[in-house]
Amino acid sequence: MVAATANRNALRTASTMPRDQHEVRLPRFSRLPTTNYRLPFRKGCPVKTLLAAAVALVLTMPALAQQTNMNESMQKLETELVAKYGEGQRARLQRGMKQVAAFWRAEDGDAAAFEDVVRTHFAGDQETLDALFNRMQFILESIYGHMTEISRDLQWQSDLDLGTVYPFDEVLAGYTPSAHITDDFFDNKIAFIVLLNFPITTLEERLTEGENWSRRQWAETALALNFSKRIPSSVNLEVGKAAADASQYVATYNIWMHHLVDDKNNRLFPAKMRLLEHWNLRDEIKANYSLDPKVGLPKQRMVQRVMERIVDQTIPDAVVDNPHVDWNPYTNDVKPAAVNDSEGEGRPAPAKLTNTREPDTRYAKILSTFRASKLVDPYSPTAPTHIQRSFEEGRQMLESRVQSMLEEVVSSPLVPRVAKLIEKRLGRKLEPFDIWYNGFRSRGAYTEDQLDAITRKRYPTAAAYKADMANLLVGLGFTKERAEYLSANIEVDPARGSGHALGSGRRGDNPHLRTRVGKDGMDYKGFNIAVHEMGHNVEQVFSLKHIDYYTLQGVPNTAFTEALAFVFQAKDLELLGLAKPSAESRAMQTLNDFWGTYEIAGVALVEMKMWHWMYDHPDATPEQLKTATVQIAKDVWNQYYAPVFNKKDVVLLGVYAHMVNNFLYLPNYPIGHLIAFQIEEQIEKNGNLGAEFERMAKYGSLPPDQWMKNATGAPVGASALLHATEKALTVIK
Ligand SMILES: [Zn+2]
Repeated sequence: MVAATANRNALRTASTMPRDQHEVRLPRFSRLPTTNYRLPFRKGCPVKTLLAAAVALVLTMPALAQQTNMNESMQKLETELVAKYGEGQRARLQRGMKQVAAFWRAEDGDAAAFEDVVRTHFAGDQETLDALFNRMQFILESIYGHMTEISRDLQWQSDLDLGTVYPFDEVLAGYTPSAHITDDFFDNKIAFIVLLNFPITTLEERLTEGENWSRRQWAETALALNFSKRIPSSVNLEVGKAAADASQYVATYNIWMHHLVDDKNNRLFPAKMRLLEHWNLRDEIKANYSLDPKVGLPKQRMVQRVMERIVDQTIPDAVVDNPHVDWNPYTNDVKPAAVNDSEGEGRPAPAKLTNTREPDTRYAKILSTFRASKLVDPYSPTAPTHIQRSFEEGRQMLESRVQSMLEEVVSSPLVPRVAKLIEKRLGRKLEPFDIWYNGFRSRGAYTEDQLDAITRKRYPTAAAYKADMANLLVGLGFTKERAEYLSANIEVDPARGSGHALGSGRRGDNPHLRTRVGKDGMDYKGFNIAVHEMGHNVEQVFSLKHIDYYTLQGVPNTAFTEALAFVFQAKDLELLGLAKPSAESRAMQTLNDFWGTYEIAGVALVEMKMWHWMYDHPDATPEQLKTATVQIAKDVWNQYYAPVFNKKDVVLLGVYAHMVNNFLYLPNYPIGHLIAFQIEEQIEKNGNLGAEFERMAKYGSLPPDQWMKNATGAPVGASALLHATEKALTVIK
């Protein structure tokens, strides 16, 4: 799961989990906790949703009459304060007053109250400005840091393997103590004092002017961004409600596989198999590559047909999560179930069985998340659409940049070469579902059982892992001094779940590595995850405790911390003293990642285009959105996939459940792959993992291109992935 600290914040909005199996958790709130559309994520999957409850929407934008009064006030104050502080302060003052006025509401007071704030709190000399800047760095660290600790304590029992979780523990874990900080800071005028004195910038300004900024200027900008929106809690609740509602739809969208029948009435899938759209359906396609094609191929084709009917909503409404109905996805016929394999789960049998299609509910849910997001627009002046907030605040990257990077991958001349290789390995022509081909894997030198035996013996408890952590870090390439320092600054706890990394929010507190240790010790999977999470924790130590300004702490976005964690994870066998992966298995991994990036980049492009369509057609009906999305999915397919798959008008790129409830999250995955390859390439080139990791991690949460230029000399881009793929193609033929 991800939430975030002060400035690892918005950034981490959008957690990216490029290789599914791990999770990183940061403190529970984002920059300031109003922005509920920053969804916390759990384990490679969906949103753990937000507060739900509806409250009538009260719009509280400044009234026109008040605006006129404020304009008069601003002119008066400009004359007065320029006389006091000198001509040099005019531009700062003008900008600051405008920023305050943009967020001022009737309940904040009349023109006299506005004048009072400006007159009292404008820092017109450097000494006062420095004092304000330093105080806010100190205070934000204290607030975010302690809020992190409080949240960690509230979730202590439910997160850790410490015995019974009582119902009251769940209530405690669900409480977010920081929920009202933003409101409080506007109420007590602290937010206005910051807005009066420090510049809010758009990403475009940061990218064009930032090249010449000092670290202090970046830190000032980051400070002001904490207050760049003031979303009424009623709006946040609407967003939370839409997200919760869409998540509920996604969470129960199961297909009962034993009830799929082919034209000869065969059931291809085992009893009780219930697959969630789209994750489990996709993973079933992947799992079937290991079967005899005579068995696997018909199953894969059938899953594809199910997915297509979900995207175009020709799926009979009666078959969704219903074990009482048999369904032929080719003819779309439905019949009462001839076998019973459920034990009261799923929806009840329909009173009257028809194959009436699902009434575009999927698209109705998407529209409701769009409309809720749109309510935020007027309160977010520097990023007034959800698309901008997602890219420019969440990722700190312009959408146009991301789009061209994704297009570079999907139109790469390497795609047909890798496709040929897949056809050769499959011994047949590609079919559309082969976008999920997962056969690039080499047989490991050790069995899972052998590995389990090694790790169980070595790590009978979480404490044993902690005791060995400095050795592991030396094994990764840190000096003894650094390894011992890091080990002393990371706590290790026994996790209830599979493990996660929980960052700290202030320098006096340590990040926590949560690791799963079974009764008979830590199994290999647990060890592999622990090493990954340790990568997050080491990043967290450097990017918080070694940062020059608190508001710059963290990394640009979640993809970066994931990429750094993968660097650790890839070395887990070496850390056990076993042989490192062969050149062949590394090449296989690269091809696997390349093909996965090709797939998910297309999915992301579809979601991006869908959001633009919704902004262009805000009053669309669910049916109109469906028609448009199906067309978008076909268009992207026809442009970048049809030439490789020799089939047109496939809609599979529209199947991801993230599109329903995750608010434009999907682009994180392909970006995460690209970043991971860049970081891995740099560390490999330099050879000194410990020193390179530290140098990269302590740069802070500047925009990705700046961060990457500092780390590798080049901005974020596809070239490292493409280069590695080209090389892998010379190894695997
Ligand atoms: Zn992770």
